[in-house]
Amino acid sequence: MSENCLFCKIVEGEIPVTILYEDEDIIAFNDINPQAPIHFLLIPKKHLSGPEDVAIEDERVAGKLMRMGNEIALQEGCSQYRVVVNNGPQAGQTVFHLHMHILGGRDMSWPPG
Ligand code: 5GP
Ligand code: ZN
Repeated sequence: MSENCLFCKIVEGEIPVTILYEDEDIIAFNDINPQAPIHFLLIPKKHLSGPEDVAIEDERVAGKLMRMGNEIALQEGCSQYRVVVNNGPQAGQTVFHLHMHILGGRDMSWPPG
């Protein structure tokens, strides 16, 4: 756990979220400020600040984020969706604990803003 990390607090159960999936490695929960009808986040329980923190021993969990993101999206009735990882403030990252956004349920434009 990293002190003052919002998502570590969510992992510890200190901040309530709507959990869609949880196991020993990851948690998935609805985004508090959804940008699409379906918008949830998947995070590793281990504090990694972003992709640059993903070491070889984290590869299995990083892959699980992708696999479970797809499974949960399908459970939510959504087979077409966007996967987003914002890395760094210029890219829009605001919480510095690795997380994957899944957004779906509406048409998406490209390029992103
Ligand atoms: P970022 O901008 O870092 O890629 O994404 C952070 C995301 O976390 C944002 O979409 C934001 O709405 C979400 N978020 C921030 N605080 C909370 C919270 O307390 N609960 C939940 N469920 N989501 C949060
Ligand atoms: Zn953290």
